[in-house]
Amino acid sequence: MLVSAKEMLEKAKAGKYAVGQFNINNLEWTKAVLATAQEMNSPVILGVSEGAGKYMTGFKTVVGMVNGMMEEMKITVPVALHLDHGTYEGCLKCVEAGFSSIMFDGSHYPIEENVAKTRELVDICEKKGMSLEAEVGSIGGEEDGVVGAGECADPKECKEIADLGVTMLAAGIGNIHGKYPENWKGLSFETLAAVQELTGDMPLVLHGGTGIPEDMIKKAISLGVAKINVNTECQLSFAAATREYIEAGKDLQGKGFDPRKLLAPGAEAIKATVKEKMELFGSVNKA
Ligand SMILES: [Zn+2]
Repeated sequence: MLVSAKEMLEKAKAGKYAVGQFNINNLEWTKAVLATAQEMNSPVILGVSEGAGKYMTGFKTVVGMVNGMMEEMKITVPVALHLDHGTYEGCLKCVEAGFSSIMFDGSHYPIEENVAKTRELVDICEKKGMSLEAEVGSIGGEEDGVVGAGECADPKECKEIADLGVTMLAAGIGNIHGKYPENWKGLSFETLAAVQELTGDMPLVLHGGTGIPEDMIKKAISLGVAKINVNTECQLSFAAATREYIEAGKDLQGKGFDPRKLLAPGAEAIKATVKEKMELFGSVNKA
């Protein structure tokens, strides 16, 4: 059964490790992430962007697929199904569809409007026993066509949003979605420390986990980050393994064109990436 991300993140925050959010795109992705979480005995958050939800024909399909897999695969580790960077309307749709967690990305609204909309969603999530992630300060790079500049959040605004009763808070600390540019300045640990000081026990979320050096990840966890989002890295692993299979001409040998064979190396590559991240984040055996 899907669970809210609240308990797993509180435990992570107290235990000084982070739970990975791995975004899913299709059946292979979901199966690979769930299998790895079970194998690693790690809690996990399945992230679904609005674009990925649409790709999979809608949020109800996603809920049906994930619930079915959890039962058929006998998954016993805690799993949250989470909307990534949701609009207000998208959040409501996911609540109705049966997600166990949502992120409302109100970072592009003026702070007053972000506060008002987040407050409404806090009430809805409380009634449903769901977890809610809010965002302050836009996170750079591209997320489903929306390009942000990678700014640092205002710690006072973070405190204001945290006090509304959200479960977790994503604060921009110079992180970027997708691949990091050559001239990237690194994470702003000053901002992270200032946000942490004002928000106390609130689990903080680090978006754009692809390509952040390991020492920075570890330092961020030590400063209160309890959830780290990984998306692009699994896509790159999947694409590289699939390319290798095709370039080696394996799809032309025997029944190598069978999708169950053709997509297998990519799925194995996703598993390897997820495993590596769970080890780095410290969530192995924390289920
Ligand atoms: Zn993000």
